[in-house]
Parts: sequence; structure tokens; C-alpha cells
Amino acid sequence: MEVKEKAKIVITVASLVAVTVLIVTEYRRRRRYRRKQTSPLSSCYLHSEVRPQFGFKRVLADNSYSEFKHLKLDDASSSSEEASNCHHPYESEITVLLENTQIEFGFLRGECSLEMSDSYVWVETESQLKELAEVLAKEKVFAVDTEQHSLRSFLGFTALVQISTHEEDFLVDTIALHDAMSILRPVFSDPNICKVFHGADNDVLWLQRDFHIYVVNMFDTAKACEVLSKPQRSLAYLLEAVCGVATNKLLQREDWRQRPLSKEMVQYARTDAHYLLYIADALTAELKQLATEDSSSPDDKFHFLLEASRRSNMTCLQLYTKETEDFPGSAAASSIIYRHLNGHGDTSTISLNAEELVRKLCAWRDLMARIHDESTRYVLPDQAVVALACKQPTTAEEIYGAIAHTDLATESSPSLNSSVQSPYPVICSHLDDIYQMILNKLAKLDDILPLVLKKCLGKNGTCPISVFNYSLLLNFKTKLSSHSAPKQNGHKNFKQFTRKASRELFVKKFSCKAPVYHNCRIYANDGRLLCYCDKRKLEWYLNRGLAKLVEEDPPAIMLLFEPKGRPEDEGNDFYIQTKRNICVGCGEGKHYLRYRIIPSCYRVHFPEHLKSHRSHDIVLLCVDCHEVAHAAAERYKKQIATEFGIPLFVRRVLDSKEAQGTSSLMEDESTVNSEDAGVSPLLLRSAAMALLRHGNRMPSSRREELLQIVKMYYGGRDISEDDLERALLIGLSPHERRKRERKKGVSLKHSAEVARLDKQENGNKDKNNDDEAPADSEKIMNVERSTVADDSGDGGTSEGDGATELNDAQCNGNMLHQQNSKLSLLGHGPHGKQIVEYLLREYGEDGVRDFCQRWRKVFVDAVHPRHLPGGWNVSHSGRRDFGEFSVYNPTKRLSTE
Ligand code: AMP
Ligand code: MN
Ligand code: ZN
Repeated sequence: MEVKEKAKIVITVASLVAVTVLIVTEYRRRRRYRRKQTSPLSSCYLHSEVRPQFGFKRVLADNSYSEFKHLKLDDASSSSEEASNCHHPYESEITVLLENTQIEFGFLRGECSLEMSDSYVWVETESQLKELAEVLAKEKVFAVDTEQHSLRSFLGFTALVQISTHEEDFLVDTIALHDAMSILRPVFSDPNICKVFHGADNDVLWLQRDFHIYVVNMFDTAKACEVLSKPQRSLAYLLEAVCGVATNKLLQREDWRQRPLSKEMVQYARTDAHYLLYIADALTAELKQLATEDSSSPDDKFHFLLEASRRSNMTCLQLYTKETEDFPGSAAASSIIYRHLNGHGDTSTISLNAEELVRKLCAWRDLMARIHDESTRYVLPDQAVVALACKQPTTAEEIYGAIAHTDLATESSPSLNSSVQSPYPVICSHLDDIYQMILNKLAKLDDILPLVLKKCLGKNGTCPISVFNYSLLLNFKTKLSSHSAPKQNGHKNFKQFTRKASRELFVKKFSCKAPVYHNCRIYANDGRLLCYCDKRKLEWYLNRGLAKLVEEDPPAIMLLFEPKGRPEDEGNDFYIQTKRNICVGCGEGKHYLRYRIIPSCYRVHFPEHLKSHRSHDIVLLCVDCHEVAHAAAERYKKQIATEFGIPLFVRRVLDSKEAQGTSSLMEDESTVNSEDAGVSPLLLRSAAMALLRHGNRMPSSRREELLQIVKMYYGGRDISEDDLERALLIGLSPHERRKRERKKGVSLKHSAEVARLDKQENGNKDKNNDDEAPADSEKIMNVERSTVADDSGDGGTSEGDGATELNDAQCNGNMLHQQNSKLSLLGHGPHGKQIVEYLLREYGEDGVRDFCQRWRKVFVDAVHPRHLPGGWNVSHSGRRDFGEFSVYNPTKRLSTE
């Protein structure tokens, strides 16, 4: 008994220990695995740094190579107007000020106080900012200065805005309020409020860059100094000379990101704005004085003052732009080569090798700075570039050694210096790039950037993606291809980065490049408007002498024969609605795609006269509405599949022999959709391919999973290797099938299968349905040119309208996952064919018309379109007889082709 008890305890303890050991090892293994997985992610220093600008939600000037966009935002700040980039959004308001010779300097009170109180207002919340805007809106004048941070940022950002009225000093925390600063736009652009700056040239640009704040009506005390020919124009001089205040300008270079600001910094910041009103007062008095002394006629009385004011407002007309270069870093490289390497113009001393390395390092530095949102000098100062190019070190120690003495000690203040000592964080986390460049592994300059970008921000990139760098991914290709002939290889994979990035890319790539509707008109010979259409249709009639041109721009023709029937007669004014080039869903006008309300897999099998003449069922949609509509259509297809009992995907037609014993056809729930949708050919093919290639090496669970997919196609029976080989051909187009056969040398024994598939597919592919989703994966990414969305539905392709349309596979549901999109839709052709055949057989053409109405309803229910043309309705009959000369007349068509 006792022994038994003991044994029990021993066993229990032993198993407990065993279990614990197992758990611990498993835990360790997982942890190790996880660490291994995340190690590339944590390799960039940015993963462990907190930087204030990463809290900004909206950044107007990002680090991409694209242009800065200027915007005029009205006071309601909801609607906006994009200014063309060579025009200042407030040009007309500022011009009025420049031309006005009767400026009322109402702000001059002549009684500014010099005193600076102990209290000031720290503005850091939105409500405080709104209060400030209300205060300022009541003023005639206020003073402004800004402090910037530029070392740890690529373009720099405004860290503080100081605003002083006669009564108070406000310090606006523009880091905390970065996304709310639009609240101050109206007071800055109000021409009735004068803004006093000192040396505003940079400040006006910074305010535009960070906040779309444009200054209208300014008095710049530095300009006043100019007009007055003062011996010095600095603020320090004016403070001393006019106010008797000493200031330490060294504080200018402090790290203005820090919070709370030190007492000295607060004092400095307040001083920069506080005395400006007093100084402006004093200088305008001098300008007036000068005018009176100097003038011979009373008309010249305000001459000097006007001149100072005019020069100030000229400053406001400047526009912020991002610096552009032929190639990233090229300007810096040229300057470094000139200054350091060739003894000031003497090319004999320069090593070509070193010069090339300078160019590479500068290009790399430029991109690294943009990716990490750092200044280029923080990534690698000029001196360090020179040191690396000359010494060409090849170990980490040598590299650090070469650049160690080149840090920023000379150019920055002590407080910054402590955080900027070597070794340099960017260099440390990306040392490998430096090796490669020095060892000349990255042979060509052009190759470096795409590689670096991919490495840093690619799918498993080393560096974090931020609001500052995501659009680099979008604009990068353009930047490079505009520089040199694009090398496609390097930037092929830049599509799949952030959701936003790829969406924008998608819009750019696939949306219509030119207006879809040309709004050409066709008149009857009695002058009545018959329809709007595209140019091509006009030409069709003109070329055959069936019409004459009656108007040029936009073109209109008059038919020379009597058309059969008029649109109005049919109570259908849809064809004479002007079609607008906007998304019919939400009204978006910037981009749009064609959308076919009746999915192609059905439409292509319609009788010709129902298929043609379908402008009604092709609408423009923006990407978002397109996505919604398409997803709804895909869902509805499944419903149709269930309703008619016709699966969406082809299934192997079973031989009678095979059919025996396959009653349990669809029992495996894990792989079968409840609506019996079948197997997608792509899924089938990739499963078969994986099994053929790695079948014996993969885990048995995975193997079983893949086998289930293939089995489902073959009706549940056991699978042979032959079956797998055959499965590779399912869903391919005949062309693609033959290609694969040739390439892979698929044995002749499958030619019967190929022939069968060809036969099955026959009739699916007539000349009209080139928009049928191709099963060919290469083709999926191509956008095919297709017919204009007008009722010129003869199915041919229209050249020259620049408009594009997605095929179904391209826009399957979420376009951002195009890889997945291949899974669907491919092979819906047979399903579509069977459905249409069934409808025609059972209900005739009315069946097809009803079917179309169902699709229109699906579309309306999904998108809730608010911008459909007036005559559009769900029950549109599409019944229309074609006249003798109509482009739609089937007999005519045959004879003209
Ligand atoms: P200020 O209005 O003179 O205080 O200067 C505004 C901002 O310009 C400062 O916050 C600095 O970021 C920048 N700045 C102006 N002059 C220099 C300089 N000599 N060195 C570094 N930064 C400067
Ligand atoms: Mn300042
Ligand atoms: Zn990094």
C-alpha cells in the first residue's frame, strides 16, 4: 500500500516535471522563434526611439520626391481649392495690398509698452487654440515668430509659434497642436489684420509647409530696416538699439522639441515676438518722419512706409517648394567633390573611384534621411562622406573610426551635441549598405536606391513605415524613371506596401486617364437630339456618308437618314442625358473606373442584340464604390449559383465509372462552401503544383489539406499523380495551356484532357469577350483597353480614349490583395454560360432582361448611387429596334466588317 502510494507520488511528480520541462522548452523554442522572426524588424534604431513628429496625423510635406501641394482653404475649412503650383493661393488678396497706395496703418498706436510681464499663455490644447484665434480675430495687428527643428527631421518642422498682442504673449506648442493649426488660418490670411514679423522669408514658407497657413498683410521689421538703411538688420540689433534689450541668439539653435522648455528658452522665444510691435511702431514712425523730411510734394508723403509695406507683402507671395534634384543627393555630391576632393577645381587630384563613392553615399544618405525622417547631416555629415570616400574602410571599426571625428560638434549647440555623438544610429543599423557601397558590390548608382528602399520599407522591411515616408513608395518609381531609363527589375515589387500606398497607386494605375464620355451629339435630320455618344460612333456614321458634321467642339453630327424611332418616343430619355465624368456612386471626380453592372461571365453569353447597346449597364465608379459594387456582385453570384444549382467553378465531369461511390462528394466541410461553389481553378492548380513539387516533404496535415482541394475537383475519389498533372491545366486558356505544355513538357497523355478543356471552352471566347476574366496569371495584372462606356456596344476595342477598365479578376473585392483575387472568378465563364443558356431556354429573352434587372437592383442596393443619369432605372428594358443604318443593326454589322 505504502509502496503503491509512493510509486503514485513518484509517477505524478515525474510526469509533472516532464510536462513542465516540455512546456518550458516549447516556450523557449517559441520565444526563440519569435525573436528570430522579429529580429530584422528591431534592427533599425527607430524601433526604439520616440520622436515627436511621429505623433502627427497629417503631414502636408512628406519626404517623398513629389511636389508640395498648395491649397486655398476657405474659412469654413471644409472645402478647399487646389492652387496651381505656380500661383499663390492668395495672390489676388496680396496683390491688392501691393497696389494699394492708401494703406491705413490703423495698428499704429504710438503707445506700445516695452514692459514684458512675468506671465505668458502656453497654448497646447485645441480649445486654447480656438480661444487664441478668437482673440486674434479682434486685433488689428499681432506679432509672430516661429522656432524650427531641423536636425532630426528631413524637411524640418515648426516646433513653436510665438504670437504677441499688445496685451499678451502666447507660446503655441505646434508639436502638440500640429494637426489643429488650421484654426489659425483665417487670422493669418485676413487682409485686415497686420502680422508683424522680423525677417519673415523663412517663417512664411514654414507656415505653408506645415499648416497651409498663408500670411496676407505683413509688416516685416527687417524690410523696414532695409528701407531705412539701418547699419544692421538683425533682430538682436533692433532689440538693443530700439528697446535696450539684450538677447542671446545662441538659444536660436536649441532643440526646440524639448518639453517643457527651459526658462531661458521661454524667455528667448517670448522676446523674439514680444518687442516686435514696439519695434514696428518705432520704425513706422521713422519711415513717416523720413517721408515728411524728404518729400517735395505731399503726394509722396507715405512713400517710405509704403515701400516697406510693399516689400513685406512681397515676402508673403513666396511659395514653399521642396528642393528638387536630377538625382537624389546629386547637388550635395557635386558640392562635396568640388570642395573636398579635387582641391577646388583641380581635377588631377581626384580619384574617380572616390568620386563615384561620394555620389553613391550622397544618394544613399538622401534616401536614408527621407526614410527615417532625419536631416542628411544627421545620417552622414559631409565630412563623414569625404572620410569614407577617401579612406574606404571595410570593417565596422574602420568605418566608425573614419567618421568618428566628423560629428556635428562644430555646427550644433551643446544640448544637441550630446545626442548626436558617434556612432551614428542610422549608420549603425544600416552598416551593411556602407560595406556594400565601399566594396562596390552595388555596382551602379541607379541600383542602390530601389534596393535600399525595398530593404527598409519593403514587405519585411527593417525600418518603420510612417506618415513621412509611405508615399516615397508611390513616387519613387516616377522619380527614378524620369531620371534615367527605368530598370524594371529593381522596382517591380513596390506595389505591396501600405494599404494606403497601394490604394493610391491603384487609383493612379487603373482609373480612366481621359474623360470617358465625350459628349458628342447625334441629331436627327429634323434637328432633334437623339443621343450623346463618343467620337468613334460619330466617325462611324461620317465615314459612311450617313451623317454630316454640324458642330466642331464638342462635335455633333446630323443623320442624313430618318432613324427608326426616337428615344423620347420610347419614353426613355436616358440616351439624351449628358453623362458626367464622375463616380455615379459618390460623385468623386478625380478618378473613376468603368463598372459593368451585369458581370461579364453572364453578359458575354447574351445574344448579340442584348449584349450590345448597353451603355445603361456600364457606369463610372470611384475605386471605393467599385470595391463595394464588386463585392456585392460576387456575393450575389454565389446566391445565383445556389438558386440555379449551377456551381461557380467547374468541376470535373465524372465518368460514370468514377461517379460510383462518390456519394460523399462534398462532405468535408472545411473545404466546401455551403453554397457548393466548387473549387477555384487557381486554388486547384496551386494545390496540385505544391503536391507535385513538395508533396513528400510537407507536413502531413498540410498535404491532406491540399489533397482535399484536388479531391473535391475529382469528385472525392483518390488522386493519382496523373490527376495532379491534369489538374495543372484546369482553368487555363487554350493558349496558356499550350504554353505550359511546351514549357513543362507535360506529356502527351494529357492532350486528350487539353482537347476536352478546349472544347468545353469553345464559344466562351468570341471576339467580343476579351474582358472575360483570363485564367492566365500574367494577364491578370494587365489592364485591357476596352469599349467606351457608351452605347457603341459593338464590342470592339476603342483606341485613343485613354480609358481603362478592370477585368473582373483585377477588381475582385479588395483590390489591395490582388494575389488573392486570382482565386476568385476565374472560371466563372462556364457557370455564366450555363445560367444564360438556362434562362434563354426557360424564359426566352425576357428571362435575360429580368436577370439584368436583378443585377441592377443588386448594384443600387450595394452602392446607393446618388449620381446616376436622370433616365437611369432598374427596369430599363433595353428593347430597341435597330434601324437600317444603325451601328447596332446585326445585318449592317456583318456587311461593314
Ligand atoms: P529665430 O526666429 O531667429 O529664432 O530663428 C528661427 C529658427 O530658425 C530657429 O528655431 C532655428 O531653427 C532656425 N535658425 C535660424 N538661424 C539659425 C542658425 N544660424 N543656425 C541654426 N538654426 C538657425
Ligand atoms: Mn525666433
Ligand atoms: Zn532604418
